[in-house]
Amino acid sequence: MAAPVTPGPSASPAPVAPGDLSGGGSRGPPDPPPEPKQLPELIRLKRDGGRLSEADIRDFVRAVVDGSAQGAQIGAMLMAIRLRGMDLEETAALTRALAKSGQQLEWPEAWRPQLVDKHSTGGVGDKVSLVLAPALAACGCKVPMISGRGLGHTGGTLDKLESIPGFTVIQSPEQMQRLLERVGCCIVGQSKKLVPADGILYEARDVTATVDSLPLITASILSKKVVENLSALVVDVKFGGAAVFSSQAQARELAEVLVGVGASLGLRVAAALTAMDNPLGRSVGHTLEVEEALRCMDGAGPADLRDLVTRLGGVLLWLSGQAEAQDEGAARVAKALEDGSARDRFERMLAAQGVDPGLARALCSGTPAQRRQLLPGAREQEELHAPADGTVELVQALPLARVLHELGAGRSRAGEPLRPGVGAELLVSVGQRLRRGTPWLRVHLDAPALSGPQRRALQEALVLSDRAPFAASSPFADLVLPPPRPTSTHTQQ
Ligand code: URA
Repeated sequence: MAAPVTPGPSASPAPVAPGDLSGGGSRGPPDPPPEPKQLPELIRLKRDGGRLSEADIRDFVRAVVDGSAQGAQIGAMLMAIRLRGMDLEETAALTRALAKSGQQLEWPEAWRPQLVDKHSTGGVGDKVSLVLAPALAACGCKVPMISGRGLGHTGGTLDKLESIPGFTVIQSPEQMQRLLERVGCCIVGQSKKLVPADGILYEARDVTATVDSLPLITASILSKKVVENLSALVVDVKFGGAAVFSSQAQARELAEVLVGVGASLGLRVAAALTAMDNPLGRSVGHTLEVEEALRCMDGAGPADLRDLVTRLGGVLLWLSGQAEAQDEGAARVAKALEDGSARDRFERMLAAQGVDPGLARALCSGTPAQRRQLLPGAREQEELHAPADGTVELVQALPLARVLHELGAGRSRAGEPLRPGVGAELLVSVGQRLRRGTPWLRVHLDAPALSGPQRRALQEALVLSDRAPFAASSPFADLVLPPPRPTSTHTQQ
């Protein structure tokens, strides 16, 4: 709960005598609205545990977008919010202010039930959006996905797509509408027209240790989705060693805030709780993840990735009333992966978002080896070997992501270019029995070799046990649903 508001001395309205409602002693026009507070005062208010009003939040966001807020002030406010938190009303007000910082997207009325989207709180190896957006389009949905870049140690969908030569994430609202008409999906970034305030705050959070803030995550995700004018949204809320929040209880709290704030803004949000201890799939790094996403769209690839794609898609088709049950929706998404229709939409999306149509065709129709030739690779590869016999209990995604970040897969400064070919391929699966000396990880790097500490950190990421081999479980742990619509005929599963 926020502490009582303690206004600063400088910009508070002049004191008014009790009973004097006009502020001037005589009858006349109503009081003018209070003077906007100066940024230092707003920062102090939040720093001291106070509550920001809707107008305070609007003024802060306006200053962020018009450039009158200095970088230090933005960072200080983010840290104050990170440390003091926000209640649900403040979080909803921040979401609204971020959404209103740019244009609202409008779609033909006939599309209303089909408009769906998915977002993730950030994982390692999480390429679900690359597969799910085209798979949903193949199921008849319209997916106007406004996505993000890498944040902290987690990878960003936009960075992965930009590793495909020519792919353009900046698309105007008019271009997005054409993409939805022709392809059924698009994956774009925020821009000067689309949620510009989130773009600025997102970059600032990445370099000010303010990523792991429940209200900032909620407002960042939902502002993009409010702008998209959706019928239903599913948020993949990660928990575990490589997630923003490690415990499932914290992730559930975030899930409930996302669902609750979404409902208060008229957005139907479901939140899936999914484990993020191991990387998702077997590849981490931009081009490697594009390749793995394509394998999933071939109807192949790792089971955990496919499981998450089909389940989240099933939730969305059901939540938007396009399937009778989540399982039915999941089966339709699975079919779109198996019959090539998701990959066909992906190819069309690539071509429509700037990739040479010949390259898009070759990428989508080629073998994995041919695809590798078409995407930017890293200069060197280095394999690591199992240090002992044992069963793979866990491949810790966090140290793996940190080493890859250091090798150039992530940013240390806002706007820094990335190395698209840097990444790692897991050569083993969780639950698999290994012999000492078996290669378990192939690192793709632009440096001549891993440093000693990097090699050690990666070797420590492999956790072996004496257990018998086992089948790895699905990362999907739980689902938080929105309150049922009064007129809904759905049963909640
Ligand atoms: N995705 C976003 O868009 N924002 C966050 O804060 C985290 C994930």
